[in-house]
Amino acid sequence: MFKRALAAAALALLAACIQQAENGAIDEQRLLAAEDDPDNWLSYGRTYAEQRFSPLEDVNDSNVGQLGLAFSVQLDTNRGQEATPIVVDGIMYFSTAWSKVMAVKADTGEVLWQYDPKNIGAKGVHACCDVVNRGVAVWEGKVFVGTIDGRLIALDAANGKEVWSTVTVDQKKPYTITMAPRVVRGKVIIGNSGAELGVRGYVSAYDANNGKLVWRFYTVPGNPADGPDGAASDEAFAKFAGKTWNGNWWEMGGGGTVWDSVVYDADFNQLIVGVGNGSPWNHRARSAGKGDNLFLSSILALDPDTGKYKWHYQVNPGETWDFTATQQITLADLTIDGKPRKVLMQAPKNGFFYVIDRSNGKLISAENFVPQNWAEKIDLVTGRPIERPEARFADKPYMVYPSGLGAHAWMPMSYSPKTGLVYIPAMHAPITMKDDVNYERHPGRWNTGVNMGGLPPKGQEHEAAFMGWLVAWDPVKQKAAWKIERPWPWNGGTLATGGNLVFQGDAYGKFHAYDARDGKELWSFNAGQGVLAGPITYRVNGVQYVAVLAGYGGSMGMARPADWMETPPPPGQLLVFKLGGTAKLPERPPYTPPPFAVSDEKFTPAQLAEGQKWYLTYCSICHAGPTNPDLFRSQYALSADAWRSVVIDGALQDNGMASFSEQLTKDQAESIRAYMLKLGKEGTAAEAARKAGGGAGAGKTGA
Ligand code: CA
Repeated sequence: MFKRALAAAALALLAACIQQAENGAIDEQRLLAAEDDPDNWLSYGRTYAEQRFSPLEDVNDSNVGQLGLAFSVQLDTNRGQEATPIVVDGIMYFSTAWSKVMAVKADTGEVLWQYDPKNIGAKGVHACCDVVNRGVAVWEGKVFVGTIDGRLIALDAANGKEVWSTVTVDQKKPYTITMAPRVVRGKVIIGNSGAELGVRGYVSAYDANNGKLVWRFYTVPGNPADGPDGAASDEAFAKFAGKTWNGNWWEMGGGGTVWDSVVYDADFNQLIVGVGNGSPWNHRARSAGKGDNLFLSSILALDPDTGKYKWHYQVNPGETWDFTATQQITLADLTIDGKPRKVLMQAPKNGFFYVIDRSNGKLISAENFVPQNWAEKIDLVTGRPIERPEARFADKPYMVYPSGLGAHAWMPMSYSPKTGLVYIPAMHAPITMKDDVNYERHPGRWNTGVNMGGLPPKGQEHEAAFMGWLVAWDPVKQKAAWKIERPWPWNGGTLATGGNLVFQGDAYGKFHAYDARDGKELWSFNAGQGVLAGPITYRVNGVQYVAVLAGYGGSMGMARPADWMETPPPPGQLLVFKLGGTAKLPERPPYTPPPFAVSDEKFTPAQLAEGQKWYLTYCSICHAGPTNPDLFRSQYALSADAWRSVVIDGALQDNGMASFSEQLTKDQAESIRAYMLKLGKEGTAAEAARKAGGGAGAGKTGA
């Protein structure tokens, strides 16, 4: 009897060992063949080509009406959720806000392990657009994640224990990481973010086994006085790219962060990366208004083994609008003019859809997929845009669309080889731009050199309203096959499937399935909060699942619809659906906002005016939305000591509220408190008026 028990225990141990050995079993061969492995979702965009198309068709246009929630997993915060999960042999790995990582059983949601990188909380203020994370990479038993404080970490896929950790940035500078790492030829590729605040962009390759740096490519030149970097990019800057810069760009880093898109093109053994905007944004403030400023706003092909330059295509020479080319890069084989072409496709912020020959980086075609007013067209001979001169807002304000918010942001698009269409989460969000004549640099905070937020100039008012679309774009004909209009610009990433379906979430909390051929809505689910992340689909034990993270994310106050700004969002959720699923989301208690901060303290008009200035400079970017506390409802505002302990001494920095002692004096911090108490008083009065029957219109104060 004892012997049999021992044998059984040994067997169980063996089974456990095999299970452990198989955790995260992805290698180069398997990743290169991912197209033929539809049960799994092995990397960020499913395959290296990042088409986000799954051939699975068990869930399809005839039965998707029976799709229901199989299970949900509640996350630990209501901060933004942007990650695309990865599924390997029945286990799902995904990252959440603050670069945390979870592994769950992909068919039940049972949590296998969780990992918290314990970020330097104060780095949260360096994140332009919340402490989000877009995903992990899995490779040879390890799970890789980039952290908001700039580390690249390898975890054991079996138990979530740290294997190695490397700091990839100067953490004193306003760098962050939100992108998903990619693993290519045994190297983990990672970039960073921070070009709004003032950094120099680069992309690096680390050895997947030990976290040692293999190569680095800077996307913009450094201070010429410092000489070459000893990096893979030195040659390109010496030969041609360095000459495209003027002025003292290095003082604010120059920008060019690689913050999202990295693809491996096995056909030509090249790594293709998308490069971001300039720092500061304004070309006149950055480069004396002269030069193309390579490799800002460019699609850049590098040798994956050495990081050496192969070719580039610059989307916006002399970038000045926050027009990044970091948006998703998707590889495909298309037939154009009767000839097979190996292309890459990108729908960057500037609103044009680019089809580029990936053998040499030459432009094949480009047409606008949303309304735009900054260019006449893209010249197919030179590959350069023919700009409207007024769009550079040199002598008067210009309301530009698309704007830096993007015709398309980080939300992933998908391409179905079955329909030949690209499904783009598209936006219309104009911004009126003019030179910031009082431009002062604020280290560690936004530095754009642009004055934004002015009223639209006369004659442009009718174009100002924000909206969005799901655009089904034919990349060969360069025109829309169909589109769905949305009342708010920020909507979710898309997934296309062999079942003739396109899945997309929206800002108002619905997760939809459409017929991929004509856009007819076939199904939807009410998630009760924004669904912006990229959905995936996979199969476990013969059952097809569709999964997506629900939660806000994006830019500027977590990108919630304006009419949903009164209440903080609920905690994020992993939502997993299957045919016949009957699970329900947890009930949510009703929300009562905290009371306004009100006191009888008296302040001078000069103090209040100064407080308003510093509030708008440093506070409102994070505190104007409902996710982070409204400062005019903060009880810290009732006491000068308590306020100073947070704003100057950093009492809440582990929560992401950094000390502002380097930016603000004690008196300046106190002036913000004064202004908050003023807003608190105004809010109380508005609320009283509303209760007394004033009714409509008494909205939120201060934002
Ligand atoms: Ca940017």
